[in-house]
Amino acid sequence: MTRPTRVRFAPSPTGLLHIGSAHTALFNWLFAKREQGTFLLRIEDTDAARSRTEWVDAIFEAMDWLGMDWDEDILYQSKRTARHQQRINELLESGRAYRCYYTTEELDERRQAAMKSGENWRNDRRYADISTSEEEELKAEGRRSVVRLAIPEGKTSFCDRVLGEIEIDNSTLDDFVIARSDGSPLYHLAVVVDDIDMKISHVIRGMDHVSNTPKHIQLFDAFGYELPEFAHLPMILGADKKKLSKRHGVVSVMEYKESGYLSDAVVNFLLLLGWQSGDDQEFFSREELKSRFSLDQVHKRDTVFDLKKFEWLNGQHLATLSTVELVPLVTPFLVSAGILNEDGANVSEEYLIQVIDLLRERCRTFKDFPAQAGYFFSDDFEYNPKALRKHWLKEPEMVIERLRWLRDAYSDLSTFDAGSLEEATRTLSEMHDLGAAQFIHPCRVALTGQLGGPSLFHLIEVLGKSRTIERLTRALDLVSTIEVPQ
Ligand code: GLU
Repeated sequence: MTRPTRVRFAPSPTGLLHIGSAHTALFNWLFAKREQGTFLLRIEDTDAARSRTEWVDAIFEAMDWLGMDWDEDILYQSKRTARHQQRINELLESGRAYRCYYTTEELDERRQAAMKSGENWRNDRRYADISTSEEEELKAEGRRSVVRLAIPEGKTSFCDRVLGEIEIDNSTLDDFVIARSDGSPLYHLAVVVDDIDMKISHVIRGMDHVSNTPKHIQLFDAFGYELPEFAHLPMILGADKKKLSKRHGVVSVMEYKESGYLSDAVVNFLLLLGWQSGDDQEFFSREELKSRFSLDQVHKRDTVFDLKKFEWLNGQHLATLSTVELVPLVTPFLVSAGILNEDGANVSEEYLIQVIDLLRERCRTFKDFPAQAGYFFSDDFEYNPKALRKHWLKEPEMVIERLRWLRDAYSDLSTFDAGSLEEATRTLSEMHDLGAAQFIHPCRVALTGQLGGPSLFHLIEVLGKSRTIERLTRALDLVSTIEVPQ
């Protein structure tokens, strides 16, 4: 009988939720969705020195933003010490674990001696079967004991869903410690006891945990629990092929939100880190992700975090939203850039829609909007020195003349839309036997200060007649007086 699919995401709350952890969470979540299973959250907060409640909240916030909902109650590992100890006692009673009274120095000596003769020292279980009176004597000497799991001779093997067959010799495991001398449980013990109590059927986690798995298997066996399946996910590397870290400028999940990414794009991008659809498809909606995901398409190779691709993918997701949907998403970015007032009082909704509609094709993240939108909301914009050099200052007298012609022609227009503006500009260029570009470029600089931007005639239509005429008039003076930084 196959058991119900139950997976868990088990972050340690020692910092903001990073891309690597979100990646693990997503693969578990998608697997559970796909298999109609249960996705559980376990907070591994036993490291009192490093765990903090604010980091736990940060995990919730990031999971919430990414839309990864979990089932059942959250399990806090730190609240389960008594249960872990109870399970340790069971192992002591069944003889699968023993108390070891060796001091650290004694262990070091033995290890070194073994190394000299080219061997791996394995605990000789000298204290495994001592009598109560011997134990009392050891305690009276001031010795303290740890609890070790007795690892049988032989091999530990498992078939990883991603990596395939893995086998290690048990001699490499030694009899590892499962409880410290103060009785507190060690990490591997806590993980396995919790996985058993949570009835976990599949352990899906990063490749950095694969070396722990044989130890976990030994513990599952010791407790007589049918092994879960294991799937170790590829590591995410930076462009320099080193393990992804802050050095690569790759930040926590919520910082991507602040940088103007959509959560659907983050989720889509995370999936492509280590998973292939089998065809060339890279864009996936959330619903498609849930129906297409399979562990069988996870590859073993390390995967490289490609920010350019991430931006591109975000642009693709952004393109699926209507301009009206974009307005409330872009507005906070315009406010925090100081372009819009907090209450949005300095601009009408209709104007905002027109501006966003014009800029959206050129934006991949929400942060790109304020970078390009300034001149739509304020006359006090910077003139790009490159644009000035290229389009104004090579032939200033002629530029002034052309801008004057444009201003006069535009002032005469009764309909101020892109079509009429374009027609008026083309008429002028034919009349003076000049290329349209010789009007368009200096005009763009006059109206926006920029080298490039959205279609000029549509932009002018949005800016409106009075603003356009004012800026052209201002430019007539500026062309001969403006100082260009070198
Ligand atoms: N708490 C571990 C981590 O954050 C995960 C352990 C596990 O998934 O087994 O890397």
